Amino acid sequence: MRFAKRLDTVPPYLFVEISRKIAAKKAEGINVISFGIGDPDLETPSNVIAELSRTALDSPNHRYPETDGLPDFRKAVSGWYQQRFSISVDPDKEVLPLIGAKEGIGHVALCFIDPGDIALIPDPGYPVYSVGTWFAGGECHWMPLKEENGWLPDLDDIPENVAKNSKVMWLNYPNNPTGAIVDKGYLADVVSFGKQYNIAIMHDACYTEVAYDGYRPISFLEVPGAMDIGLEFHSLSKSYNMTGWRVGMAVGNSKMIEALMVVKSNLDSGIPNAVQYMGIEALKASNKEIDARNALYQKRRDRVIDSLNKIGLNVTPPKASLYVWAKIPAGYTSAEFAELLLEEKNVVVTAGNGYGPSGEGYVRLSLTISETDLEEGLKRLKGWEIPQK
Ligand SMILES: *Cc1c(COP(=O)(O)O)cnc(C)c1O
Repeated sequence: MRFAKRLDTVPPYLFVEISRKIAAKKAEGINVISFGIGDPDLETPSNVIAELSRTALDSPNHRYPETDGLPDFRKAVSGWYQQRFSISVDPDKEVLPLIGAKEGIGHVALCFIDPGDIALIPDPGYPVYSVGTWFAGGECHWMPLKEENGWLPDLDDIPENVAKNSKVMWLNYPNNPTGAIVDKGYLADVVSFGKQYNIAIMHDACYTEVAYDGYRPISFLEVPGAMDIGLEFHSLSKSYNMTGWRVGMAVGNSKMIEALMVVKSNLDSGIPNAVQYMGIEALKASNKEIDARNALYQKRRDRVIDSLNKIGLNVTPPKASLYVWAKIPAGYTSAEFAELLLEEKNVVVTAGNGYGPSGEGYVRLSLTISETDLEEGLKRLKGWEIPQK
């Protein structure tokens, strides 16, 4: 058998390694507490599940869905954009349902990247931006995210010849893994940059509904001119505890939506209709419901940060996202620190360098952990004297 070389370009998926280590510990009979993976422990709202039950019995939903989704789901997305961000988008031309944001993020590379083309990728960042680029035969130019720049790429740092040869730029705010947020002023600079160099801007907005301290994240498409060159990806996974159902959407420039539709209609056959009905129901959630859910994560955030501070790790509380991004003590690499924590305390965190080289020196803790595990995990951290290196 001769596999394609593209498989060799891909580092092992981050969470596969974590899962392997946890499995080894579990095989020894050890109760490992994991702050590793971002997958809401909370249940999908019952009214959303009720929609699945109701529509599953309807036989037209047993047949192939349309790749461009149910018109009613696209309308619901358009209505949600209006209500949430005060932006009008055409449900038929500027919205495309996805089998989860990950699917669209991976596939959209095929719309832009020819062999040798460059994609500008945030480092650290969600791994699918780079892997999608590599699968399409492209190359990644890393844009380091640094604390002193508020975890925003420094656009002036991108060399002229790289910018000229780049087809797309990826951004993600609220950010995974750093928890950083962005303002309109910065995004306006991104739009100018994209227009200057003819670069399509891809904004992963999966965490706009997970925010704290009264903060309301913005959409990239709120920025004047963004619609000319941008595509925004959303997920119902984190917003409505729906990771298991696989539904999200791309919203933005109509030509880009059309291009993504060409790729998708040739590779997949859309989202099960019943799941799209769940999506329509989920998007009706009131601010009150969202706020109540966020208040719960915020409490967890504060408890985690308090515990980390007490063992000597200084952490800035994130205003959004499901993650606490913690700087580790000098002398350790991220992997060494994560391993030490697993060895000494049977607690799993993710090594920051797994999200890109600039993640070195940090670990990520996810807030999607049950109350009992959170309690136990923090108890294990209590009084931990981190060995000096
Ligand atoms: C979880 C996550 C996704 C994937 O969302 P799905 O809709 O479940 O595919 C995409 N981007 C980021 C940054 C994420 O953290």
